[in-house]
Amino acid sequence: MKSKIKKVINPPEFLGILGGGQLGQFFTIAAQKMGYSVVVFDPDKQSPAGKIAEKHICKPYNDLKALDELKASCSAVTTEFENVPAETLKYLEKDIIVRPNSKAISIAQNRIKEKDFLKNSEMPIGTYVVIDSIESINNINEKLSIFPGILKIAEFGYDGKGQIHVDNKTELEAAFKTFKSVPCTLELKLNLDSEFSIVLARSVDGEFIEYPPIHNIHNSGILEFSSVPNVSYDFNDKFYVNLTKRIASELSYIGVMAVEWFIADGNFFVNEIAPRPHNSGHFSIDACVYDQFDQQVLALTGNKLKEPEVEFPRSVMLNILGDLWFRDGAQKEPKFEVIAGLGVNLHLYGKTEPRIGRKMGHITILGLRDETQKDVMKRALSIRKILWEN
Ligand code: ADP
Ligand code: MG
Repeated sequence: MKSKIKKVINPPEFLGILGGGQLGQFFTIAAQKMGYSVVVFDPDKQSPAGKIAEKHICKPYNDLKALDELKASCSAVTTEFENVPAETLKYLEKDIIVRPNSKAISIAQNRIKEKDFLKNSEMPIGTYVVIDSIESINNINEKLSIFPGILKIAEFGYDGKGQIHVDNKTELEAAFKTFKSVPCTLELKLNLDSEFSIVLARSVDGEFIEYPPIHNIHNSGILEFSSVPNVSYDFNDKFYVNLTKRIASELSYIGVMAVEWFIADGNFFVNEIAPRPHNSGHFSIDACVYDQFDQQVLALTGNKLKEPEVEFPRSVMLNILGDLWFRDGAQKEPKFEVIAGLGVNLHLYGKTEPRIGRKMGHITILGLRDETQKDVMKRALSIRKILWEN
C-alpha cells in the first residue's frame, strides 16, 4: 500500500475521484491540465468524468474489491459529491490519502449531524428540530415557532429533492410518511432576502484562498443564476468569509468547501455545507486564472493553493437544466448556436439523457468593459429567453 505520509503528490501520478458527474469532470480536466492522470470511480457507465479520465472503475461504492483496485491505482482520493457512503471513505482512508477527511464528509452528508456540528460551533442557524419518529412530531414544543416549515430528509437530498413544505403537524406527519419515516430535519421556512455562498479552499498547511461572495438565485429549489460580485448585499468586511473559514478549520478540512448562506429579515444563517466544489463556483472556470477545481487538485496533492486571480470581476452563471429539452412538450435539442456572442461561455456536460431538473450544462456570461452587474444579469436573462424561444 502507498505511504500515507508522503507530502506532495507529483504528476503524472494518478488521482482518484469518487463520483463522475460534471464536478468530477471539471476536476479531471483541472488535474490533467497539471499533468496528473485520473481514475474515476462511478457506477454509471455514461458518467461525464468517466468518459474523459484515464481510467474508470464502474462499480458500486460498497464494492470492496473495486475499492481495493482504486487504492492500488492512485495516490490520493477526493470526492465530487457528499453522498458517497461514509464507510467507503473510511475504508479508503485506512490506506490512502482521502481529502477532505471522511469525518468532515460524514457531517456534511447528514443534515442532522451538520446542524449539530454548526450549533456546537456556535454558527448562526435557523430554528430546526430532528424528526425521526411519530413521537418526535408529537413532542414538538407547541411554543416553538417552526411552522411554516420544510421537512428535509437527512441524507441524499440535492437540488431541492427530498423536501416537503408543511404548515402544521398533520401535514408534517403525512410528509414524514411520504419519506418512509427516514430521519429528517424540520426547518423553519425563513423569509429570505437573498442567498449567497462562500467558496474557499484549505490546504494541507491550513492556508486558505477564497473566492468573492456569490449571489445565488434559485428556481424551484434548484440554483439557476450565480452572480459575482454579489451586489445584493454590501460585504464590506470579511466576517462571513471568516466564519466559513472557521467551519473548515474545525473540520480539519483539506480541499474545496462551499457554505451556503441565507440572509433572512436582515439576519444571516448558515444553510448547508458542501464538502466539494460548488455549482455557484463555476464562474471561476471562465472568470479566474485558477478555478475552484484547480484548488481541489492543489489541496488534494498537498501543494500550496493559488490566489484565484479574478480576471473578469463581473460575471453571471446560468444553469441549463434538462427542462430546456422539453420546451414545447416534445423533446427537442436546444439551439445553442443562437446565443453565441462575446463573453458567452457554454459548458455542456455530455449527459446523454435530458431530464426535468437535471443539470445538463451551464453558461457563464462575462461582464464586458463598460457593463455594470445589472447589465450582465440583463444579458443572462435575455440569453435564457432566447434559448427558450428557439
Ligand atoms: P439542497 O441540498 O437541495 O441544496 P437546501 O437545503 O440548500 O437543499 O435547499 C434548497 C433551496 O431551498 C435553498 O437554496 C433555498 O432556496 C430553499 N430553502 C431551503 N431551506 C430553506 C429555509 N429554511 N427557508 C427558506 N428557504 C429554504
Ligand atoms: Mg443547497
